[in-house]
Amino acid sequence: MRDVLLALVLAAMVVCLAAGTASAGPAATRIVRATGTIVPIPAAIPHETGDMVDRRIIPDLRWIARRFPIFVTDGYSGPLPNGERAGCRGCHVKGSDHYNGLAVDIVPLRWSGRCDRNWRGITRLARWAEPRQNRPAPPFRWVGYNGDAGHGCGNHLHLSWEHAPARSFRMAEWVEVFPVRRQDLAPHSVPGGNQGSPPGGAETGRKEVGEAGEEEPSRPQGGISRFQTGGVSPSGS
Ligand SMILES: [Zn+2]
Repeated sequence: MRDVLLALVLAAMVVCLAAGTASAGPAATRIVRATGTIVPIPAAIPHETGDMVDRRIIPDLRWIARRFPIFVTDGYSGPLPNGERAGCRGCHVKGSDHYNGLAVDIVPLRWSGRCDRNWRGITRLARWAEPRQNRPAPPFRWVGYNGDAGHGCGNHLHLSWEHAPARSFRMAEWVEVFPVRRQDLAPHSVPGGNQGSPPGGAETGRKEVGEAGEEEPSRPQGGISRFQTGGVSPSGS
């Protein structure tokens, strides 16, 4: 019995380390093959009005927004089926992950144009996502911050997610994400807090969250229609 308790305590500690104070990226990742859709960013993730992303990265963004003081300034950049456009035009390089809705640009929730203490949380996030320069932790594909031209403390942080090759303005066939459990997003959940461990969920960061790890954005913001493209089909069909 004691051994069981000890194992539980150790497992809980591992989870706390992974969730709260980790400095080296998510503990686990998974591939999401559910169909991509460009959707408005939910209100729980502070963002510039009108910003959108592929819904498959929204659980990760929610998780990040609960732990780091982020404000998203741009997500998907490109045309929408209704003829309108989302995102910043001419802001991103050719082939940017912003054109697939799988990248976000981030500044501090309390904006400051200088690299001051308002940026501490963003620097922490950047280090977590990219512990060593040019070696982003999975599932991140590219992290733009200090050491990258046009990025960094006082400017902005770019995060993009690993994904299947996809043409611009198409949905990638799959996206790599880190799994997010519902209780990690519950309003009362405090990272590292002592809420007792959920049954069965403590020892693995790999619990499946349904096909997608997808959570519908709580409420689409008015007026912007959702759309869905078939993505790039290998058979050309
Ligand atoms: Zn960017």
